[in-house]
Amino acid sequence: MMNRTRMLVASLLIGALGLAPMAQAQDKGLIGISMPTKSSARWISDGESMVKYFKEAGYKTDLQYAEDDIPNQLAQIENLVTKGAKVLVIAAIDGTTLSDALQKAADKGIKTIAYDRLIKGSKNVDYYATFDNFQVGVLQANSLVDALKLKEGKGPFNIELFGGSPDDNNAFFFYDGAMSVLKPYLDSGKLVVRSKQMGMDKVGTLRWDGAVAQARMDNLLSAFYGKDKVHAVLSPYDGLSIGILSSLKGVGYCTAQQPCPYVSGQDAEVPSVKSILRGEQYSTVFKDTRELAKVTVGMVDALLSGKQPQINDTKTYNNGIKVVPSYLLKPVSVDKTNWKTALIDTGYYKESQVK
Ligand code: BGC
Repeated sequence: MMNRTRMLVASLLIGALGLAPMAQAQDKGLIGISMPTKSSARWISDGESMVKYFKEAGYKTDLQYAEDDIPNQLAQIENLVTKGAKVLVIAAIDGTTLSDALQKAADKGIKTIAYDRLIKGSKNVDYYATFDNFQVGVLQANSLVDALKLKEGKGPFNIELFGGSPDDNNAFFFYDGAMSVLKPYLDSGKLVVRSKQMGMDKVGTLRWDGAVAQARMDNLLSAFYGKDKVHAVLSPYDGLSIGILSSLKGVGYCTAQQPCPYVSGQDAEVPSVKSILRGEQYSTVFKDTRELAKVTVGMVDALLSGKQPQINDTKTYNNGIKVVPSYLLKPVSVDKTNWKTALIDTGYYKESQVK
Protein backbone atom coordinates (compact mmCIF):
# COMPACT_ATOMS: atom_id res chain seq x y z
CA MET A 1 0.00 0.00 0.00
CA MET A 2 2.79 2.32 1.07
CA ASN A 3 4.68 1.49 -2.10
CA ARG A 4 1.70 2.21 -4.26
CA THR A 5 1.21 5.57 -2.55
CA ARG A 6 4.87 6.39 -3.05
CA MET A 7 4.69 5.43 -6.68
CA LEU A 8 1.60 7.55 -7.13
CA VAL A 9 3.26 10.55 -5.47
CA ALA A 10 6.36 10.03 -7.60
CA SER A 11 4.41 9.86 -10.82
CA LEU A 12 2.32 12.88 -9.83
CA LEU A 13 5.52 14.80 -9.15
CA ILE A 14 6.98 13.75 -12.47
CA GLY A 15 3.79 14.86 -14.19
CA ALA A 16 3.70 18.18 -12.34
CA LEU A 17 7.31 18.98 -13.13
CA GLY A 18 6.89 17.99 -16.74
CA LEU A 19 9.77 15.55 -16.47
CA ALA A 20 10.15 12.60 -18.76
CA PRO A 21 11.75 9.94 -16.54
CA MET A 22 12.77 7.65 -19.38
CA ALA A 23 14.44 10.44 -21.33
CA GLN A 24 16.23 11.64 -18.19
CA ALA A 25 17.69 8.24 -17.64
CA GLN A 26 19.06 8.04 -21.18
CA ASP A 27 22.53 9.16 -22.03
CA LYS A 28 22.53 10.43 -25.57
CA GLY A 29 25.98 12.01 -25.24
CA LEU A 30 27.65 15.32 -24.48
CA ILE A 31 26.72 18.65 -26.09
CA GLY A 32 29.28 21.47 -25.89
CA ILE A 33 27.80 24.94 -25.43
CA SER A 34 30.01 27.99 -25.92
CA MET A 35 28.47 31.35 -24.96
CA PRO A 36 30.15 34.75 -25.38
CA THR A 37 29.80 36.44 -21.99
CA LYS A 38 27.96 36.58 -18.71
CA SER A 39 28.05 40.36 -18.72
CA SER A 40 24.68 40.45 -20.44
CA ALA A 41 21.82 38.59 -18.76
CA ARG A 42 20.39 37.25 -22.00
CA TRP A 43 23.30 34.84 -22.52
CA ILE A 44 22.87 33.53 -19.00
CA SER A 45 19.21 32.77 -19.76
CA ASP A 46 20.18 31.17 -23.07
CA GLY A 47 22.68 28.90 -21.31
CA GLU A 48 20.32 27.95 -18.48
CA SER A 49 17.48 27.12 -20.86
CA MET A 50 19.69 25.00 -23.10
CA VAL A 51 21.09 23.01 -20.19
CA LYS A 52 17.52 22.37 -18.99
CA TYR A 53 16.07 21.32 -22.35
CA PHE A 54 19.09 19.22 -23.33
CA LYS A 55 18.82 17.37 -20.04
CA GLU A 56 15.13 16.74 -20.62
CA ALA A 57 15.99 15.33 -24.05
CA GLY A 58 18.56 12.94 -22.55
CA TYR A 59 21.83 14.82 -23.19
CA LYS A 60 24.67 15.91 -20.95
CA THR A 61 25.96 19.44 -21.40
CA ASP A 62 29.14 21.37 -20.84
CA LEU A 63 28.36 25.10 -20.77
CA GLN A 64 31.20 27.61 -21.13
CA TYR A 65 31.29 31.42 -21.05
CA ALA A 66 34.27 33.23 -22.61
CA GLU A 67 33.86 36.72 -21.10
CA ASP A 68 34.15 38.36 -24.51
CA ASP A 69 37.74 37.17 -24.93
CA ILE A 70 38.35 35.54 -28.33
CA PRO A 71 41.35 33.31 -27.38
CA ASN A 72 39.37 32.20 -24.34
CA GLN A 73 36.42 31.13 -26.52
CA LEU A 74 38.77 29.27 -28.90
CA ALA A 75 40.40 27.40 -26.01
CA GLN A 76 37.00 26.51 -24.58
CA ILE A 77 35.81 25.16 -27.93
CA GLU A 78 38.95 23.06 -28.36
CA ASN A 79 38.45 21.74 -24.87
CA LEU A 80 34.85 20.76 -25.63
CA VAL A 81 36.11 18.85 -28.67
CA THR A 82 38.69 17.04 -26.51
CA LYS A 83 36.02 16.17 -23.96
CA GLY A 84 34.10 14.35 -26.68
CA ALA A 85 31.18 16.67 -27.41
CA LYS A 86 29.02 15.32 -30.22
CA VAL A 87 27.70 18.71 -31.26
CA LEU A 88 28.95 22.24 -30.58
CA VAL A 89 26.45 25.03 -30.04
CA ILE A 90 28.29 28.32 -30.37
CA ALA A 91 27.34 31.98 -29.96
CA ALA A 92 30.54 33.54 -31.31
CA ILE A 93 32.22 36.61 -29.86
CA ASP A 94 33.79 37.37 -33.24
CA GLY A 95 32.04 35.44 -35.99
CA THR A 96 35.16 35.24 -38.15
CA THR A 97 37.70 33.67 -35.81
CA LEU A 98 36.51 30.09 -35.43
CA SER A 99 37.39 28.44 -38.76
CA ASP A 100 40.40 26.43 -37.54
CA ALA A 101 38.69 25.22 -34.39
CA LEU A 102 35.61 24.18 -36.39
CA GLN A 103 37.75 22.34 -38.94
CA LYS A 104 39.32 20.32 -36.13
CA ALA A 105 35.84 19.55 -34.80
CA ALA A 106 34.54 18.56 -38.23
CA ASP A 107 37.51 16.24 -38.74
CA LYS A 108 36.25 14.34 -35.71
CA GLY A 109 32.70 14.23 -37.08
CA ILE A 110 31.44 16.88 -34.68
CA LYS A 111 28.60 19.07 -35.98
CA THR A 112 28.30 22.77 -35.24
CA ILE A 113 25.25 24.94 -34.75
CA ALA A 114 25.65 28.70 -34.82
CA TYR A 115 23.55 30.02 -31.96
CA ASP A 116 21.96 33.45 -32.43
CA ARG A 117 25.10 34.84 -34.13
CA LEU A 118 26.22 33.59 -37.54
CA ILE A 119 29.69 32.00 -37.72
CA LYS A 120 31.39 33.32 -40.84
CA GLY A 121 34.07 32.06 -43.22
CA SER A 122 33.68 28.36 -42.41
CA LYS A 123 32.01 25.53 -44.30
CA ASN A 124 31.67 23.66 -41.02
CA VAL A 125 28.59 25.46 -39.79
CA ASP A 126 25.75 23.00 -40.16
CA TYR A 127 22.75 25.03 -38.99
CA TYR A 128 21.89 28.43 -37.59
CA ALA A 129 19.24 29.11 -34.94
CA THR A 130 18.39 32.78 -34.45
CA PHE A 131 15.72 35.46 -34.58
CA ASP A 132 14.73 37.48 -37.61
CA ASN A 133 17.57 39.94 -37.13
CA PHE A 134 16.56 42.36 -39.90
CA GLN A 135 13.12 42.55 -38.31
CA VAL A 136 14.73 43.42 -34.95
CA GLY A 137 16.10 46.59 -36.57
CA VAL A 138 12.75 47.30 -38.23
CA LEU A 139 11.01 47.07 -34.85
CA GLN A 140 13.58 49.32 -33.17
CA ALA A 141 13.20 52.02 -35.82
CA ASN A 142 9.41 51.69 -36.00
CA SER A 143 9.13 52.32 -32.27
CA LEU A 144 11.04 55.60 -32.72
CA VAL A 145 8.96 56.56 -35.79
CA ASP A 146 5.76 55.95 -33.81
CA ALA A 147 7.00 57.82 -30.74
CA LEU A 148 7.96 60.85 -32.83
CA LYS A 149 4.67 60.65 -34.79
CA LEU A 150 6.58 60.89 -38.05
CA LYS A 151 3.80 59.13 -39.94
CA GLU A 152 1.46 61.92 -38.84
CA GLY A 153 3.82 64.40 -40.50
CA LYS A 154 5.52 65.70 -37.34
CA GLY A 155 9.16 66.82 -37.44
CA PRO A 156 11.90 67.65 -38.19
CA PHE A 157 13.61 65.87 -35.31
CA ASN A 158 17.23 65.22 -34.41
CA ILE A 159 18.31 61.61 -34.14
CA GLU A 160 21.66 59.90 -33.47
CA LEU A 161 22.44 56.36 -34.54
CA PHE A 162 24.26 53.57 -32.69
CA GLY A 163 25.24 50.20 -34.11
CA GLY A 164 26.31 46.94 -32.50
CA SER A 165 29.69 45.23 -32.62
CA PRO A 166 31.18 45.16 -36.14
CA ASP A 167 32.53 41.62 -35.56
CA ASP A 168 28.97 40.38 -35.00
CA ASN A 169 27.06 39.71 -38.22
CA ASN A 170 23.80 40.52 -36.42
CA ALA A 171 24.88 44.12 -35.92
CA PHE A 172 24.65 44.73 -39.68
CA PHE A 173 21.21 43.13 -39.92
CA PHE A 174 19.92 45.26 -37.03
CA TYR A 175 21.36 48.42 -38.60
CA ASP A 176 20.11 47.64 -42.10
CA GLY A 177 16.66 46.76 -40.78
CA ALA A 178 16.48 50.04 -38.88
CA MET A 179 17.73 52.08 -41.83
CA SER A 180 15.13 50.52 -44.13
CA VAL A 181 12.55 52.29 -41.93
CA LEU A 182 14.45 55.52 -41.16
CA LYS A 183 15.83 56.26 -44.62
CA PRO A 184 12.73 57.94 -46.13
CA TYR A 185 12.55 60.31 -43.14
CA LEU A 186 16.28 61.05 -43.36
CA ASP A 187 15.91 61.69 -47.10
CA SER A 188 12.95 64.03 -46.60
CA GLY A 189 14.69 65.91 -43.76
CA LYS A 190 12.08 64.96 -41.17
CA LEU A 191 14.94 63.20 -39.35
CA VAL A 192 18.32 64.88 -39.07
CA VAL A 193 21.56 63.28 -37.88
CA ARG A 194 23.39 66.43 -36.77
CA SER A 195 26.70 64.58 -36.30
CA LYS A 196 26.34 63.16 -39.83
CA GLN A 197 27.75 59.92 -38.37
CA MET A 198 26.01 57.18 -40.30
CA GLY A 199 26.96 53.69 -41.51
CA MET A 200 28.26 50.81 -39.40
CA ASP A 201 31.88 51.94 -39.89
CA LYS A 202 31.03 55.16 -38.02
CA VAL A 203 28.38 54.06 -35.53
CA GLY A 204 29.48 50.52 -34.57
CA THR A 205 30.20 49.75 -30.90
CA LEU A 206 32.96 47.17 -30.42
CA ARG A 207 31.95 44.22 -28.19
CA TRP A 208 28.55 45.81 -27.55
CA ASP A 209 30.21 47.75 -24.73
CA GLY A 210 27.87 50.14 -22.88
CA ALA A 211 30.78 52.28 -21.67
CA VAL A 212 31.93 52.80 -25.27
CA ALA A 213 28.43 53.90 -26.28
CA GLN A 214 28.24 56.23 -23.27
CA ALA A 215 31.56 57.85 -24.19
CA ARG A 216 30.46 58.30 -27.81
CA MET A 217 27.15 59.86 -26.68
CA ASP A 218 29.11 62.24 -24.39
CA ASN A 219 31.14 63.34 -27.41
CA LEU A 220 28.11 63.73 -29.65
CA LEU A 221 26.29 65.82 -27.08
CA SER A 222 29.18 68.16 -26.47
CA ALA A 223 30.10 68.54 -30.16
CA PHE A 224 26.65 68.82 -31.77
CA TYR A 225 24.01 69.57 -29.18
CA GLY A 226 24.16 72.81 -27.25
CA LYS A 227 20.90 74.70 -27.60
CA ASP A 228 19.60 72.11 -30.04
CA LYS A 229 18.29 68.96 -28.47
CA VAL A 230 18.46 65.33 -29.56
CA HIS A 231 14.97 63.84 -29.85
CA ALA A 232 15.69 60.16 -30.53
CA VAL A 233 18.56 57.69 -30.36
CA LEU A 234 18.62 54.43 -32.29
CA SER A 235 20.25 51.92 -29.94
CA PRO A 236 20.52 48.25 -30.94
CA TYR A 237 20.96 46.72 -27.46
CA ASP A 238 19.78 47.47 -23.92
CA GLY A 239 23.33 47.56 -22.52
CA LEU A 240 24.13 50.40 -24.92
CA SER A 241 20.80 52.15 -24.23
CA ILE A 242 21.59 52.30 -20.51
CA GLY A 243 25.01 53.87 -21.27
CA ILE A 244 23.44 56.35 -23.70
CA LEU A 245 20.80 57.33 -21.14
CA SER A 246 23.45 57.88 -18.45
CA SER A 247 25.23 60.22 -20.79
CA LEU A 248 22.02 62.11 -21.53
CA LYS A 249 21.15 62.41 -17.84
CA GLY A 250 24.64 63.77 -17.22
CA VAL A 251 23.81 66.85 -19.29
CA GLY A 252 20.33 67.44 -17.95
CA TYR A 253 18.02 65.24 -20.01
CA CYS A 254 15.34 63.03 -18.41
CA THR A 255 13.91 65.81 -16.24
CA ALA A 256 10.52 67.56 -16.26
CA GLN A 257 11.98 70.49 -18.27
CA GLN A 258 13.97 68.32 -20.64
CA PRO A 259 12.49 64.83 -21.13
CA CYS A 260 14.62 61.90 -22.33
CA PRO A 261 14.85 61.47 -26.06
CA TYR A 262 13.19 58.29 -27.35
CA VAL A 263 15.79 55.52 -27.04
CA SER A 264 15.31 52.02 -28.45
CA GLY A 265 16.94 48.77 -27.25
CA GLN A 266 17.02 45.00 -27.44
CA ASP A 267 16.85 41.94 -25.18
CA ALA A 268 14.37 43.19 -22.57
CA GLU A 269 17.04 43.05 -19.89
CA VAL A 270 15.87 43.85 -16.37
CA PRO A 271 17.60 47.27 -15.98
CA SER A 272 16.04 48.35 -19.28
CA VAL A 273 12.56 47.10 -18.44
CA LYS A 274 12.84 49.05 -15.19
CA SER A 275 14.00 52.08 -17.16
CA ILE A 276 11.01 51.76 -19.51
CA LEU A 277 8.67 51.61 -16.54
CA ARG A 278 10.32 54.77 -15.11
CA GLY A 279 9.69 56.51 -18.44
CA GLU A 280 13.36 56.72 -19.47
CA GLN A 281 14.24 54.11 -22.14
CA TYR A 282 11.39 54.11 -24.65
CA SER A 283 11.37 50.56 -26.02
CA THR A 284 13.21 47.29 -26.30
CA VAL A 285 12.93 44.17 -28.44
CA PHE A 286 12.08 40.97 -26.63
CA LYS A 287 13.60 37.78 -27.98
CA ASP A 288 12.43 34.81 -25.94
CA THR A 289 15.68 32.96 -25.26
CA ARG A 290 13.69 29.95 -24.02
CA GLU A 291 12.26 29.51 -27.50
CA LEU A 292 15.68 29.83 -29.13
CA ALA A 293 17.06 27.21 -26.74
CA LYS A 294 14.13 24.88 -27.60
CA VAL A 295 14.67 25.26 -31.33
CA THR A 296 18.38 24.55 -30.90
CA VAL A 297 17.84 21.44 -28.80
CA GLY A 298 15.38 20.22 -31.44
CA MET A 299 17.98 20.80 -34.16
CA VAL A 300 20.68 18.92 -32.28
CA ASP A 301 18.37 16.03 -31.45
CA ALA A 302 17.31 15.74 -35.11
CA LEU A 303 20.94 15.87 -36.29
CA LEU A 304 21.98 13.13 -33.91
CA SER A 305 19.00 10.93 -34.76
CA GLY A 306 19.70 11.17 -38.48
CA LYS A 307 16.63 13.35 -39.05
CA GLN A 308 16.30 16.64 -40.89
CA PRO A 309 16.40 19.61 -38.43
CA GLN A 310 13.48 22.00 -38.78
CA ILE A 311 14.42 25.15 -40.69
CA ASN A 312 12.41 28.05 -42.13
CA ASP A 313 15.04 30.04 -44.02
CA THR A 314 17.49 28.87 -46.67
CA LYS A 315 18.36 32.22 -48.27
CA THR A 316 19.28 34.96 -45.83
CA TYR A 317 22.41 33.89 -43.98
CA ASN A 318 25.38 33.58 -46.32
CA ASN A 319 28.51 33.21 -44.20
CA GLY A 320 30.90 33.96 -47.05
CA ILE A 321 31.36 30.27 -47.89
CA LYS A 322 27.81 28.98 -47.93
CA VAL A 323 24.24 29.84 -47.08
CA VAL A 324 23.65 28.34 -43.66
CA PRO A 325 20.20 26.73 -43.28
CA SER A 326 18.47 28.65 -40.52
CA TYR A 327 15.52 28.77 -38.20
CA LEU A 328 14.36 32.32 -37.49
CA LEU A 329 12.15 33.15 -34.53
CA LYS A 330 9.99 36.27 -34.29
CA PRO A 331 11.17 39.22 -32.17
CA VAL A 332 8.59 41.33 -30.32
CA SER A 333 8.68 45.09 -29.75
CA VAL A 334 8.10 45.99 -26.10
CA ASP A 335 7.32 49.34 -24.50
CA LYS A 336 5.22 50.73 -21.67
CA THR A 337 2.00 49.58 -23.33
CA ASN A 338 2.68 45.84 -23.65
CA TRP A 339 5.48 44.86 -21.24
CA LYS A 340 3.08 42.91 -19.03
CA THR A 341 1.66 40.69 -21.76
CA ALA A 342 5.05 40.19 -23.41
CA LEU A 343 7.25 39.63 -20.38
CA ILE A 344 5.16 38.74 -17.35
CA ASP A 345 2.21 36.78 -18.79
CA THR A 346 4.67 34.63 -20.75
CA GLY A 347 6.50 33.80 -17.51
CA TYR A 348 9.79 35.29 -18.74
CA TYR A 349 9.99 37.49 -15.64
CA LYS A 350 8.11 37.79 -12.40
CA GLU A 351 6.58 41.22 -11.94
CA SER A 352 8.62 41.66 -8.73
CA GLN A 353 11.86 41.36 -10.78
CA VAL A 354 11.15 44.43 -12.88
CA LYS A 355 9.26 46.69 -10.47
C1 BGC B 1 22.35 39.43 -30.09
C2 BGC B 1 21.59 40.45 -29.30
C3 BGC B 1 22.44 41.06 -28.22
C4 BGC B 1 23.82 41.44 -28.72
C5 BGC B 1 24.72 41.83 -27.59
C6 BGC B 1 23.62 40.02 -30.58
O1 BGC B 1 24.31 39.10 -31.34
O2 BGC B 1 21.55 38.98 -31.17
O3 BGC B 1 20.44 39.86 -28.72
O4 BGC B 1 21.83 42.23 -27.76
O5 BGC B 1 24.40 40.39 -29.45
O6 BGC B 1 24.91 40.78 -26.71
